[in-house]
Amino acid sequence: MSSHFHASAAQADPLIAEALANELARQQDQIELIASENIVSRAVLDALGHEITNKTLEGYPGNRFHGGGQYVDVLEQAAIDRAKELFACDYANVQPHSGSQANLAVFFLLLKPGDPVLSLDLAAGGHLSHGLTANLSGRWFTPSHYSVDPETEVINYDALEKQAEEVKPKLLIAGGSAYPREIDFERMGRIARKVGAWFHVDIAHIAGLVAGGVHPSPFPHADIVTCTTTKTLRGPRGGVILTNNEDWFRRLQSAVFPGVQGSIHTQVIAAKAICLGEALQLSFRIYAAQVKANARALADSLQSRGIRVVSGGTDTHIVLLDLSSKNLTGKRAEAILDRADITSNKNAIPNDSPRPPEWVGLRLGTGAATTRGLKEVQCQSLGDIIADLIEAEASGTADATLTDAKAKVAKICRDFPIYS
Ligand SMILES: *Cc1c(COP(=O)(O)O)cnc(C)c1O
Repeated sequence: MSSHFHASAAQADPLIAEALANELARQQDQIELIASENIVSRAVLDALGHEITNKTLEGYPGNRFHGGGQYVDVLEQAAIDRAKELFACDYANVQPHSGSQANLAVFFLLLKPGDPVLSLDLAAGGHLSHGLTANLSGRWFTPSHYSVDPETEVINYDALEKQAEEVKPKLLIAGGSAYPREIDFERMGRIARKVGAWFHVDIAHIAGLVAGGVHPSPFPHADIVTCTTTKTLRGPRGGVILTNNEDWFRRLQSAVFPGVQGSIHTQVIAAKAICLGEALQLSFRIYAAQVKANARALADSLQSRGIRVVSGGTDTHIVLLDLSSKNLTGKRAEAILDRADITSNKNAIPNDSPRPPEWVGLRLGTGAATTRGLKEVQCQSLGDIIADLIEAEASGTADATLTDAKAKVAKICRDFPIYS
């Protein structure tokens, strides 16, 4: 083995090492309000950087296609058992490399090419992997989308029921990435059964809220549930599939492997087990409740400054802003927040332009900031800083506001340090 092999990243590859160091400093010095992000524990990081990454395995615990899997079997079985306990269901597959892969495996399990699916519209907060045309799911199946009521901006379940009766989907999908309200899983499950559809709930964003007991569970209403461990669940980048259906389970296992994936990401499975174990602790329930309280504080503070919050508030970690009355695009708002060290993303809102540069929405989320230790009072301050920046950008005076905003954000970052 050459001596080079033992060099740290800093010695072996200065270009990459510098980018890594800069990224860590960015995370330490910016407030992360992208709703799909979080800050994982040191234990999760340890697993992701562990030598276990060298191990190749296909198959499932106790039934592998390669030797030497005895220790990975232990941790994959722990991840499975913890996922089942956390979400109170009978079967779990923890191998999907991402949320999109988990969804693909579900489609592979339940659908034939051309089958009709009904899912939430992208502009109403849906996800690309739910049958949008740019995604394989939109090309290989026949998608239709339900939307939200134009007045309340909440899913109109009566309209959805009518649409489901017309479309007769094989699969009804609930869940999205920019829908700030609770979803009525019970009602949607009834609609699915009425029209003979399977009911798939994708809790990628809200998995941590469900796990923490502050959002209703999709079980027992859902036939199948997918989630990521990445977002409010505060774990590694990856997916999980959950079901109570015994008949499906064997087929689900082969839909993931070899259906849409090959060998497992051993280091990620270890990190998933750790994150699921963390989510079973009482401290995680407290965290989840704080995420929700923080989102409400952020939404209230922005609304009190005259910035419109889509659907008038939030039941989750997501706060979606409508900047149309400020004559600002989401893109410009994202850029000015970024200059003040607040990270967010432009997003479509209901009935928005189909062109991303013209979107008037800005999506915020409190998962990462809450991990950092922020409480309602800091989230109210953040709301004020964001409102100052948006008003200043709209009136062409952003430069004068930036110094003050940056200093306030820097103080919050110093008061609530990460990985230090
Ligand atoms: C984030 C998200 C996914 C995709 O997860 P990736 O791990 O990014 O592939 C799937 N569904 C929903 C609803 C999401 O929000």
